[in-house]
Amino acid sequence: MVNLPAVEGGIPVRREMLPYGQQWIDEDDIQSVVGVLKSDFLTTGPQIDKFEKEFANYVGARYAVAVANGTAALHAAAFAAGIGPGDEVITSPITFAASANCILYQGGKPVFADIKESDWNINPDAIKVKLSNRTKAIIPVHYTGLPADLDEINEIARKNSLTVIEDAAHALGAVYRGQTIGGLSHMTIFSFHPVKHITTGEGGMVTTDDTGLYHRLLEFRSHGISRERKSLLRDEGDWYYEMQNLGYNYRLTDIQAALGLSQLTKVDRFLQRRREIAARYIEAFSDIPEISLQVNHDDRESAWHLFVIKLNTGCLRVGRRQVFEALKAENIGVNVHYIPVYLHPYYKGLGHPGGLCPRAEELYSEMITLPLFPKMTPQDETDVIEAVSKVITYYRR
Ligand SMILES: *Cc1c(COP(=O)(O)O)cnc(C)c1O
Repeated sequence: MVNLPAVEGGIPVRREMLPYGQQWIDEDDIQSVVGVLKSDFLTTGPQIDKFEKEFANYVGARYAVAVANGTAALHAAAFAAGIGPGDEVITSPITFAASANCILYQGGKPVFADIKESDWNINPDAIKVKLSNRTKAIIPVHYTGLPADLDEINEIARKNSLTVIEDAAHALGAVYRGQTIGGLSHMTIFSFHPVKHITTGEGGMVTTDDTGLYHRLLEFRSHGISRERKSLLRDEGDWYYEMQNLGYNYRLTDIQAALGLSQLTKVDRFLQRRREIAARYIEAFSDIPEISLQVNHDDRESAWHLFVIKLNTGCLRVGRRQVFEALKAENIGVNVHYIPVYLHPYYKGLGHPGGLCPRAEELYSEMITLPLFPKMTPQDETDVIEAVSKVITYYRR
């Protein structure tokens, strides 16, 4: 008997929509926020300091600077790297627009290097091809939480005196060759949006081992103002400070930092759940010829922010769009990460042509993101697996 997909009039696998990602907030998270609301500082108080120290410690970096969101973290890192008008910065097209937008904020030019067919991360060989004498930095993105080829990328950067800013918005807790992501290049950025590993509502962090970059990040977060006595041009008294650069108000509140601190105590548990769910999906989908999965590496551990399947549409009677609609109708909250950045109208308007990164465009045309978040129940996992099998089986050629 044919198990009819809901989109064809069958009964959906689930009654309620399962989102693709969601936060996990417990009573203790709420209490730590309430504690701050009753305290003297709502912003730039002791919670920020503590959150930064514990976060830096967790990822193995010397410094961490908390900011308003992951995009602000990228912007601050782009500023600290000295990216300015005329500078080219190489990044991946398979990412959220913010990874490239931060280059534009600083007046720089994003240059897109194609991904690898195997693990869907930026290809170091493609980076080399895109180098020019205007190249200033590289922004690799650890797509889905799987670390990109950092040793190769850092080596290209070292040889060409470039700054590396890792976009680790997907990769809190990921491990590359035995080391946690966060202290392995010049700067690394994280996001605390509710779908990410830990949340502060909105929030972000930049980590670095470099004292100079650390001070530039601090300045940028608060209007470009410096109060460090030894960096001031004059000393007019105790009240005196100088705005030496154009910065922003990109500060995180103490209310948010308290939530972040509470969430950080759970990050290993959250990661373990993400890895369990991913392992179950891999087991379930490995034998389905209509599905390809991201290739993992023995020398790295993904943080599994996203679980993406690539459809071998040649083996199906319908395209990605129909499979996506069919999974939605089963009440599985599927998504697509990402539209290659340069295909967005704004980027096209800047002169980036279609067809620029063929591997990225091919992945985009066949990918679907499945739900993956720590609070999912084993039944939720079963529902996703069942819905995918049902839809694929039905549309099989
Ligand atoms: C979420 C995300 C960002 C931006 O983070 P926000 O906190 O939403 O500003 C940047 N890059 C990638 C790859 C992301 O997934």
